[in-house]
Amino acid sequence: LTHRGCLVIARSDQLNSLRARHAGNPQESIWINAELAREKVPVLREDYVAAALFETSAMDMDVNGLQMGYLRAAKARGTQVITSAPVEEIARKGDCWHIRSGEGVWAAPIIVNAAGAWASSVATSAGAQHIHVQAFRRSAALIDPPSGVNIDHWPAILDVDEQFYFKPEAGRLLLSPADETLSAPCDVQPDDLDIAIAVDRVQRAADLPVRRVLRAWAGLRCFVSDRSPVVGFDTNATGFLWLAALGGYGIQTSPAIARLVASIAQRQELPEDLLKSGVKADDLLPSRPALNRLA
Ligand SMILES: Cc1cc2nc3c(=O)[nH]c(=O)nc-3n(C[C@H](O)[C@H](O)[C@H](O)COP(=O)(O)OP(=O)(O)OC[C@H]3O[C@@H](n4cnc5c(N)ncnc54)[C@H](O)[C@@H]3O)c2cc1C
Repeated sequence: LTHRGCLVIARSDQLNSLRARHAGNPQESIWINAELAREKVPVLREDYVAAALFETSAMDMDVNGLQMGYLRAAKARGTQVITSAPVEEIARKGDCWHIRSGEGVWAAPIIVNAAGAWASSVATSAGAQHIHVQAFRRSAALIDPPSGVNIDHWPAILDVDEQFYFKPEAGRLLLSPADETLSAPCDVQPDDLDIAIAVDRVQRAADLPVRRVLRAWAGLRCFVSDRSPVVGFDTNATGFLWLAALGGYGIQTSPAIARLVASIAQRQELPEDLLKSGVKADDLLPSRPALNRLA
């Protein structure tokens, strides 16, 4: 993790949104005027930014490092990692689930449904509850920073209404239109229009010449109707544990949510630090009333 901070910017017509965001977390966000915002990120346009919040606790994650760390730790504990093995059949026989894929057959008393955009269809094939997990496309692009400008110390820059964001990424600039387009579960590809929208929105806010997009990509973010994760045992299918609908926060919540799932799977008390920070297992259950009401 790198302490970078996040600069949440607002035009004059967005100041109410900025006030509301500030009120939501006054301890960790500092209200700054346009001049100070431009001191942090000099390319911000004078006629665009009216005010900003500097969110001091925002950090940059090394996503690859985190995933490699998880893999190393799992393998060191004897975990077998099997990839490219789509589940073909799931059935509960006696006290065990039996899972068949092209790579073999496995049996276990508890299985975890962490199938992302496919979580609903995996649940259906196991005879578990129907929960409508929907996938939404989010796109991003990499561009070169303006020549002669040092971007290393820049915070992440976020539009207060989450219409775009941009941030330094290994010497380049990553930008996104913060899109959320409903998608079928698939190996999703970026749409040229979304990338053009990202460039347009960022250029309205900042003087950033974009000669070419170096790389563009898209991924799926999955939500249920109340936009909280679904974590807990299914009510229809014994030993079927949900870990789905992590939305746009599945990576940053992974250290905590993995421990939550592990304690639920082992039918232990939740870790004390999670309880202290306000996590309530009931709020995440697949059977929670809010989910069923909205569904
Ligand atoms: C552009 C973008 C930016 C993002 N930014 C952030 C961010 O800043 N912070 C953050 O925390 N999160 C961010 N996210 C969200 C984050 O990537 C997700 O929350 C997270 O990846 C969800 O993890 P998951 O394991 O639930 O699902 P996935 O990562 O989708 O994994 C599901 C896996 O299940 C497998 N699978 C599905 N069906 C089957 C089957 N039948 N048999 C076998 N395997 C199956 C799939 O192949 C896949 O590997 C971002 C996402 C995008 C697209």
